[in-house]
Amino acid sequence: MAADATPYRLFDLTLVRREALSPCLTRFSFTGPDMARMTTLAPDQRIKVFFPDAQGRPAAVPARPDWYAWWKAQPEADRAPMRTYTIRALRPDAAEVDIDFVLHGETGPASRWAMRAQPGYALQITAPDRAFTGQGGGYEWKPPRDVRDVLLIADETALPALAGILEELAAWPAPPTVQAFIETPEADDRVPLPAWSRLSVNWLHRKGWEDAEPPMVAAARRARLPQPNAVGQTLPDVDVDAEILWDRAEAHRHGFYAWVAGEAGSVLAIRQHLVKERGLDRRALNLMGYWRRGRILD
Ligand SMILES: Cc1cc2nc3c(=O)[nH]c(=O)nc-3n(C[C@H](O)[C@H](O)[C@H](O)COP(=O)(O)OP(=O)(O)OC[C@H]3O[C@@H](n4cnc5c(N)ncnc54)[C@H](O)[C@@H]3O)c2cc1C
Repeated sequence: MAADATPYRLFDLTLVRREALSPCLTRFSFTGPDMARMTTLAPDQRIKVFFPDAQGRPAAVPARPDWYAWWKAQPEADRAPMRTYTIRALRPDAAEVDIDFVLHGETGPASRWAMRAQPGYALQITAPDRAFTGQGGGYEWKPPRDVRDVLLIADETALPALAGILEELAAWPAPPTVQAFIETPEADDRVPLPAWSRLSVNWLHRKGWEDAEPPMVAAARRARLPQPNAVGQTLPDVDVDAEILWDRAEAHRHGFYAWVAGEAGSVLAIRQHLVKERGLDRRALNLMGYWRRGRILD
């Protein structure tokens, strides 16, 4: 292992091109000097992205193993805003990495940057280090190889990961049965996804937050699920306005495995339904709040 190898490493990136995938999602392709050191371990590989501060000064986090402690130690006014994103694709031969950004307006440093960014703009990210030979992390999609039945529920922020998950499953010799539910702001936010006979993809259009129930929550209610197999489980409370909802799957039961990510209030409602009302084993469920409406989580 290289002497300076750590699970996550800092990379200086330059934007090469941007491509609108749908009204809400834009793909940004980046390159950088050390791309040969970058790797990705799973389709939901999370990374930290550092954006320019409120004065427009570009992030200047030093490339050293204690980057996080260094960043935390900076006065808040000088600290480059950091947000979590997903590696959508890594092309080592072309020395390029793709990140798909939801453009949700001028309200946050990430979306604001993405709305303006043009080729040549710089960013910093931390991503897995290819030279690190230990047990890497930063992802939750770990389905058992013999899984038979998969439930995927995502909003637009988790669509990059969900698309990667479907691409991975499509390459299996016998892909499992998959129900995928994807909630987006606009009816024409659909993007091309793989297809196989036992995959059902359901696009759900969110008409607005005044909807009685977010479409991804309503979808969980109508999902075809295994018989209750873990009745009476305790379900710790999570205050999604104060903490991050992050339940990891531990084991798979009855061949079933679920991956659910998106707005934390919606994911919390889905958690309540799947565990309390439908009696699914919590240990087969990944339930992740990717963002929280009206809040800033980093
Ligand atoms: C593991 C993980 C992976 C993620 N991967 C991706 C990804 O690949 N692509 C992606 O676009 N996002 C992804 N996200 C979500 C992203 O981190 C958040 O949306 C983040 O808040 C965006 O930062 P911001 O600076 O734009 O807004 P913030 O400064 O964080 O928030 C400002 C305001 O905007 C609101 N807001 C934040 N996100 C949205 C949104 N999507 N729609 C509407 N309002 C919003 C907040 O509630 C707040 O009121 C991921 C999150 C996690 C935890």
